[in-house]
Amino acid sequence: MTKSLSKYDVAIIGAGFAGLYALYKIRSLGFSVRVFEAGSNVGGTWYWNRFPGARCDVNSLEYSYQFSNELQQEWNWSEQYSPQSEILEYANHVADRFDLRTDIQFDTPIVSLLFDEKSDTWLGESEKGERFEASFCVMATGCLSKENIPKFDGIENFTGNVLHTGKWPHRPMDFSNKHVGISAPVLQLSKQFPSLQSKRRHSQCFNARQLFRYQLVMHRWTRITRNTSRIAMRSLEPKIPDATPLLTTVRIICQR
Ligand SMILES: Cc1cc2nc3c(=O)[nH]c(=O)nc-3n(C[C@H](O)[C@H](O)[C@H](O)COP(=O)(O)OP(=O)(O)OC[C@H]3O[C@@H](n4cnc5c(N)ncnc54)[C@H](O)[C@@H]3O)c2cc1C
Repeated sequence: MTKSLSKYDVAIIGAGFAGLYALYKIRSLGFSVRVFEAGSNVGGTWYWNRFPGARCDVNSLEYSYQFSNELQQEWNWSEQYSPQSEILEYANHVADRFDLRTDIQFDTPIVSLLFDEKSDTWLGESEKGERFEASFCVMATGCLSKENIPKFDGIENFTGNVLHTGKWPHRPMDFSNKHVGISAPVLQLSKQFPSLQSKRRHSQCFNARQLFRYQLVMHRWTRITRNTSRIAMRSLEPKIPDATPLLTTVRIICQR
């Protein structure tokens, strides 16, 4: 049976950081809007990537939304490079504080989007067959939200567990007394490896091209360092045309 057609001014696909902000902004402009999210909660990248050691590698403050000064002042990051759990907590806080969940439909992967030139509208359909129509579609689907398992020769014969960082199980994983092979680029490796080191019986890294080597220096933030950092960021803002130069200032030092 064909399901009924819901109509919105704007449909947003994805409830990561981009989708949440798009919802906040578009709703405040008075449009009817619906967010469709494949996962069961908000956060996008930080909802899916919950592997041990996951954390951001830019200053936590850069991960803060800037559309609400109250939000900026009330939220305190505990570390300079926050762990995944804290970034996810922040995304949840934003969704609750601005009552965003009422316009988000979770567990709803969108599998089809067609543009109808006659009616000038998008026609979308979810995996469950729900259909919607919208004048505008915002693809807040992220650039890293689809996991990719490389086609290693013989992988189909491997009888152990294969985990992907981008679809990490929600239950705790026990690596004690296990042989663990990790295939990752250097940056990911630096996050995962230390937290697995203490538990595994033997670890082997593959595919980690040593273009550069680095170690993230972690700081627990005190009120003073946090505020100093806020002031420093604010004084930088007008001089920075976009965020890219800041990314290059991530502290990188060497370790094999
Ligand atoms: C491990 C990791 C670490 C990172 N660290 C940093 C960092 O330190 N600093 C930094 O700036 N950036 C980092 N990034 C990049 C990060 O992806 C972005 O910073 C940001 O979170 C992306 O937000 P987004 O909302 O654009 O996309 P995402 O967070 O990817 O959200 C997209 C959402 O769309 C949903 N979606 C996709 N397709 C569909 C569909 N067909 N139907 C319904 N829903 C769909 C997904 O389920 C997902 O929830 C990191 C990324 C990863 C994977």
